[in-house]
Amino acid sequence: MTEATNYNQFLKDLYSLQDLEIIEHPSEKKRFSRDFFNYSPVLFEKLHQCCADVVLRPKSIKAISLIAEACYKYEIPLTLRGSGTGNYGQCVPIEGGAVMLMDSFKKIREFDPLTGQVTVEPGCLLGNLDSYLANEGRQLRLIPSTWRNASVGGFISGGSGGIGSVRWGFLRDPGHLKELEILTVEEKPRLLKLDEISSEPINHAYGTNGIITALTLATAPFEEWHEITIDCDDFSQAIALIKSCSSAAINIYLCSLLERRIIENIPNWSGDITGKHRILILVSADGINTLRKITSNYNVIFNNLGKEKSSNGLRELTWNHTTLHMRAKDSNWTYLQMLLPQPELDAIDFINNKWGDNILWHLESVRQQGEQRIAALPLVRWKDKEALDNLISDFKKIGAFIFNPHVITVEDGGLGTVDIEQVKAKRNFDPKGLLNPRKLKGWI
Ligand SMILES: Cc1cc2nc3c(=O)[nH]c(=O)nc-3n(C[C@H](O)[C@H](O)[C@H](O)COP(=O)(O)OP(=O)(O)OC[C@H]3O[C@@H](n4cnc5c(N)ncnc54)[C@H](O)[C@@H]3O)c2cc1C
Repeated sequence: MTEATNYNQFLKDLYSLQDLEIIEHPSEKKRFSRDFFNYSPVLFEKLHQCCADVVLRPKSIKAISLIAEACYKYEIPLTLRGSGTGNYGQCVPIEGGAVMLMDSFKKIREFDPLTGQVTVEPGCLLGNLDSYLANEGRQLRLIPSTWRNASVGGFISGGSGGIGSVRWGFLRDPGHLKELEILTVEEKPRLLKLDEISSEPINHAYGTNGIITALTLATAPFEEWHEITIDCDDFSQAIALIKSCSSAAINIYLCSLLERRIIENIPNWSGDITGKHRILILVSADGINTLRKITSNYNVIFNNLGKEKSSNGLRELTWNHTTLHMRAKDSNWTYLQMLLPQPELDAIDFINNKWGDNILWHLESVRQQGEQRIAALPLVRWKDKEALDNLISDFKKIGAFIFNPHVITVEDGGLGTVDIEQVKAKRNFDPKGLLNPRKLKGWI
């Protein structure tokens, strides 16, 4: 059978299925084949022409299973899509085939008041899940700054951390993901329940080794967050302050530092421009006075903006939203992501001396393997790939751990090494390698 006959037969089989919307309009296929990879000129070049042959929106688990079965039979690549807000082209179908939209699966199946754990379908938006949890006196531990629109399945499969990382570390840290329900892509797809340990290889695997149909997550007690900004003339002082604030015995959900040139160019939700660097904090009410005390020996402007509102606020100025706002002003900005070496200031000085105005500093306080550390998502003025590679090489030389957002594989964007468990899971759950082809380097 030729490839074309295969595909036609595949489509014919799909049209006989129930609970399935089939989308073949070219502009819709294009729309559902993209995410926010355009933040990287390197990825844009690689991915902007990739397009699905067909887009599928199943409405029942049975329909997902029959799609998986048909993909296996006709050897059609299958790429899953939550809300399509990833930055690494995670849901771009590099080899075409089918893109499967998971947005019909948004039920919150179960909440356990004793443990606070919640079991939810992957298409549920994080914002909706968080509102549900608030009624139960709980909240999500970690959310991306795209929390209003991103799906929980997409966050677990494609995200890493974000708001909450200052306390709770990163998504792949043990303890966040408790269980998964997945469907395999085999001759007869299996619906499997995975416990905490066996869920690990599916966590942050870009949907390459199983179709998540439900996930169980740990949550935190609900807290009403207060927005605080601290403006500071001196960048080294600002770094010292974010360290003291994030390691104090207070309940804190966000602690970001944006250098003055960024503050001057992003929306004014954090207050007027003072010409200083700005620290943005979300903290519980009983932590505010502690923050005042910590800052009292410094020459700063302390601003209590009050309780967080439901409209745009500090959280939508941080993490990759900083990049979003800067790119809205000038799309020539791109970015990097890394854990800074210590002492951070030496590293920053070294880069400033060499790269000057081509770098703008955006720091996030995070917990990394139990330690308070500083992550950086610096804005980088785009010149060309060679300059970017030189910059990355300079960062590596000084000991920064880069999570490169200009690459397409799970490994290159993450720890840099192959996780054999992820590859084993792919062999078990997707033996023909049809799920999101070319994204798992270990498989290639
Ligand atoms: C402005 C901006 C800010 C951002 N801030 C952050 C941040 O703070 N932290 C962060 O981690 N990320 C951030 N991101 C990236 C992204 O928004 C998040 O990771 C988000 O959670 C992805 O969710 P999604 O529903 O859009 O997933 P998608 O982009 O649709 O998918 C992500 C990956 O998950 C896979 N997938 C989707 N559903 C399933 C499923 N059911 N089973 C298996 N695999 C599946 C997809 O195939 C894909 O590989 C940001 C992006 C932008 C544009």
